Amino acid sequence: MTNENSIDDKLYTVKFKSDDKSHLIADVNKCRCCCDKVCLYICPANVYSWNQEEDTLEIAYENCLECSACKVACPLNSIVWNYPKGGCGITYKYS
Ligand code: SF4
Repeated sequence: MTNENSIDDKLYTVKFKSDDKSHLIADVNKCRCCCDKVCLYICPANVYSWNQEEDTLEIAYENCLECSACKVACPLNSIVWNYPKGGCGITYKYS
């Protein structure tokens, strides 16, 4: 049984063409010092996760909805945010 409200199901309604390199870059040294790690909670696509074993931020940039919320919300300005290169990124199927 699938959860119709899961993020994976919602992401299925949009289409992505992945670039071969990330358009989202984080300064992980800053992230390690960040108490809040807002990016883990504010991203509507669950792009960010914290790898406890490696003590590092993992970025699943392929799922980015290009809303820029993470860039605005990061209290340490750790995230360098660019649009994916031309032809890559998100396409909203029904817009
Ligand atoms: Fe998530 Fe939006 Fe940042 Fe993309 S731009 S990683 S969707 S918060």
